Amino acid sequence: MLIVNDEHRLRVGIPSLSKRCPYCRKALRAYPLILSDDAGFAVYHATCAAALAIEIQVDLYTFFRPPAPYQQLFVLDVTQEKRAPASSEDLCSPQT
Ligand SMILES: [Zn+2]
Repeated sequence: MLIVNDEHRLRVGIPSLSKRCPYCRKALRAYPLILSDDAGFAVYHATCAAALAIEIQVDLYTFFRPPAPYQQLFVLDVTQEKRAPASSEDLCSPQT
C-alpha cells in the first residue's frame, strides 16, 4: 500500500515518521512510503521497497535459472519432472 501523507500513515497505525525502514535502517522521514503486509506490517521508503522487489526478482531468477555450471535444483511443474537433473521433490506444493 502506498502511503503519501500523514492521514494515510496514521490510518495504517504508524504513529510517526521516526520509525526505521527495515531495508536501509534509516528513519522513514518523508513520503512516499510503502506498507507491506506480507509477513507482518512493515513500512519501507518507496525506493527501498523497489530495490527490495528487484533483489527478490533477481534472486528468484537465479534460483530458477542458475548460471552455468550450476544446474536447476528441482522443477515445480510435474509435467517437466523427467528433465530435472536431481530428484525433484515438490518443495513448493502446499502441505496436506
Ligand atoms: Zn529505506
